[in-house]
Amino acid sequence: MIILGFESSCDETGVALACTERGLLAHALHSQIAMHGEYGGVVPELASRDHIRRVVPLTRQVLAEAGLSWRDIGAVAYTAGPGLGGALLVGASVAQAVAWAHGLPTLGIHHLEGHLLSPLLAEPQPTFPFLALLVSGGHTQIMKVSGVGEYELLGETLDDAAGEAFDKTAKLMGLPYPGGPALAALAEQGNEHAVQLPRPMLHSHDYDFSFSGLKTAVLTRMRQLTAAAAQEGEGSRREAVASLPPTPADTAAAALAVPLQARADLAAATQAAIVDVLVAKAVRALKDEGLTRLVVAGGVGANKRLRHKLQEALASVRNAEVFFPPLEFCTDNGAMIAFAAALRINAGKAQFNTDHAFTVRPRWPLDQIETSAEPF
Ligand code: ATP
Ligand code: MG
Ligand code: FE
Repeated sequence: MIILGFESSCDETGVALACTERGLLAHALHSQIAMHGEYGGVVPELASRDHIRRVVPLTRQVLAEAGLSWRDIGAVAYTAGPGLGGALLVGASVAQAVAWAHGLPTLGIHHLEGHLLSPLLAEPQPTFPFLALLVSGGHTQIMKVSGVGEYELLGETLDDAAGEAFDKTAKLMGLPYPGGPALAALAEQGNEHAVQLPRPMLHSHDYDFSFSGLKTAVLTRMRQLTAAAAQEGEGSRREAVASLPPTPADTAAAALAVPLQARADLAAATQAAIVDVLVAKAVRALKDEGLTRLVVAGGVGANKRLRHKLQEALASVRNAEVFFPPLEFCTDNGAMIAFAAALRINAGKAQFNTDHAFTVRPRWPLDQIETSAEPF
């Protein structure tokens, strides 16, 4: 069966075609990063409107790329949550509309299940059971995955997600949104040992995380650096600075007045702190659970240092292997949604909807995944 899948939970419109026998057939993506960049973060109303603009052309594009017509499609999948309510509603209502028009059943997919199963889009595929380190913009979780739909939460962040930690600290350093890739790029020029940053909860006897203390440490360091930079340039800029109230733009400008090397060192130290905690907890959980396969999913899974450090740490663990999604499928995309739907159908776990009544679930914990039919 061929499934058409829609992703619209946040700031990426993704459309894809996946087949239960042949896997992914085609996918197309439009990222709204440039549009939201101006505001330093996602503006929900703009996100919804842009999904509306993009979804039909992207759908035509994947059908054309795969050389398929509506007659070839067997079901329509869409991200039903979690995410931004308005943005989710665009994908869900378009999915229901095209399904109704073509007499097809629909399938609401959990966004995190899409991320979690995305490493199966690469070869070699990890086999079940495996441990998953899910590190995205909104979530940081360690999960035991025993099969499609069988997810046991072992630990998670108590405050910010890993991606959020990258984004927020990057913003403090004057970097553009989204901060993760920008911070990682700046870190390449820095010395991680030049600054000492905390590794929150590194030694706690659980698989939980906390990143807000790290953010505060970076804020304190940036304040010291911006104060020093302002003193340097005191003579020429005193009057201008004194006469203007602080605005986000000024904060970025102040951060950018800090010498590049100092910011690069701080970026390197921040990345090292985040990665150290993620690696330590994931490797410990893998050993404790007696598993040998570790799967990384979500946007932060694109981070080169995380990939490298996990590989390094697992080299000394007997039989251990680590699997990553293809780079383009780490952050949000339609491929993982159509593909997760195909895996659910193959596993006999698809809850098809044929009456086209639907809801979306902006908040939807992954361990309540089987309650998808309930209204939120
Ligand atoms: P969720 O899936 O939890 O709802 P999301 O969909 O916003 O959140 P993703 O699209 O999976 O999250 O990932 C986006 C996050 O990944 C952002 O926080 C971004 O900064 C981060 N990210 C992307 N590339 C990198 C990288 N190379 N290094 C570090 N972080 C990165
Ligand atoms: Mg995104
Ligand atoms: Fe996501």
